[in-house]
Amino acid sequence: MAYLAPNKYTEKPMKSILNYCDGELCDAIGGAWLDNYEPATGKVYSRLPASDARDVERAVNAASVAFPLWSALTPDERSVYMLRIAALLEARIEDFIRAESQDQGKPEWLARVMDIPRAVANLRFFATEILHTSTSAHETSSTVLNYTLRKPLGVVGCISPWNLPLYLFTWKIAPALAAGNTVVAKQSELTPMTAFMLAELCIEAGLPKGVLNIIHGMGADVGAAIVESSAVKAISFTGSTRTGEYIARTAAPKFKKLSLELGGKNPNIVFADCNFEKAVRESVRAAFHNQGEICLCGSRIFIERGIYDRFRDEFVRQTAALQVGDPMNETSRVGALVSRDHYEKVLSYIALAKEEGGTILTGGSIVNIDGRCSEGWFIAPTVIEGLTYDCRTNQEEIFGPVVTLVPFDSEDEAVMMANSTGYGLTAILWTENLNRAHRVAAAMESGIVWVNCWLVRDLRTPFGGVKNSGVGREGGVEALRFFTEPKNVCISFGT
Ligand code: NAD
Repeated sequence: MAYLAPNKYTEKPMKSILNYCDGELCDAIGGAWLDNYEPATGKVYSRLPASDARDVERAVNAASVAFPLWSALTPDERSVYMLRIAALLEARIEDFIRAESQDQGKPEWLARVMDIPRAVANLRFFATEILHTSTSAHETSSTVLNYTLRKPLGVVGCISPWNLPLYLFTWKIAPALAAGNTVVAKQSELTPMTAFMLAELCIEAGLPKGVLNIIHGMGADVGAAIVESSAVKAISFTGSTRTGEYIARTAAPKFKKLSLELGGKNPNIVFADCNFEKAVRESVRAAFHNQGEICLCGSRIFIERGIYDRFRDEFVRQTAALQVGDPMNETSRVGALVSRDHYEKVLSYIALAKEEGGTILTGGSIVNIDGRCSEGWFIAPTVIEGLTYDCRTNQEEIFGPVVTLVPFDSEDEAVMMANSTGYGLTAILWTENLNRAHRVAAAMESGIVWVNCWLVRDLRTPFGGVKNSGVGREGGVEALRFFTEPKNVCISFGT
């Protein structure tokens, strides 16, 4: 269990998040701590270990020792452990919902409908997928048979970001563990709470020691040590393109397998022949869900000129109606931004958009909330028009509640503008014309295209980006492929 520590800011003692290493909860070896903030109040409410390379080394050693036993278990046996953890998580779902919302700033209702159920689903999906997968065999001739084994890699590193904390954390560790690897994982230092609570469940579930290790701390200390460790055979990373570049540079000479899920600046193209009501409603959701802090959000909205004014007016009306407020309040549609730094970054992009000639149609400023959230990091959902498709505001990732509206005159122009950024994660299309849907989907430079929907997820589908949005795919069989190494055995049984 977490223990309480004195809080230098208030009289109330605060919770200490701990590392999970070799089956036990522990402090960082160096004994240092980092403050953990509640975004809605702007105040420190817990602390986490400021771990370093020594803690990572200890975790890597524990994972190396655990690997032979864990990888020798049958898929059935590994599945039982993982399903037990999923059941425990489900049994404590309300605790996790509250914790995720407090730690990240997202509304509780959103953690209830999205984050935590999805974390349960991730664990269950990969725990059961391994019961149904097969490998291939090639009958080369009547006396030669090739068959392919898929072996776990060994110790793998999983590094995840702050926007969908437990959702993305489990999305990585579940396939890694299911495939028979042992894991050293790092959750973002901004949102460590639910990964810590998951560690408590792993202990309760009797997960053998060293199979999963969760080390908290800064990216440059803990993340870099995981990437640099020669005993770590693969890195599954989700985060910014900048950190992804560093990881690629560091891991490539060590010949590690890499899965990099990076930033996005996703186009949302609205054709005049769309289902108008649905396109507006879902475009608002795609823009401001989770405060716009989802790599899949549609932040550049391209609208066919014939419906531009009508779409803009209705989009702005619905956006202005979104209530920004205390994440604990069921009526709050938009919560707090994750950190002061990120809040300031988003505000700086709103200032840049104005400098670049943009007109703010709604939002554009901070939101002051009375009571316990008076010092929280809230920004009003912001809609901007009048910018060119190639200005910085329309090319760089903001990752907050800010979208731009840009009209277009032809399908070719829409495709050109949509594909004009360095990113290529997802694209969203709204059209009732089937031919156009197929044609434009094929032309999008992105790993994922949603047509007449957004964030509809089937965990079996390949997930990932192209260009600066990453390398590799997660999800379904792709994830199990990443976390295993194929070995072909060619056997001749002729004389
Ligand atoms: P970030 O790159 O700052 O951090 C991500 C993780 O990497 C954190 O755990 C961090 O501590 C760690 N890290 C930082 N420096 C490191 C280093 N030198 N070595 C190893 N690890 C290091 O990203 P963030 O700000 O936490 O997340 C936001 C970004 O994540 C956005 O760009 C967003 O688009 C992206 N994202 C992408 C996806 C996707 O699926 N493609 C999903 C969610 C978020």
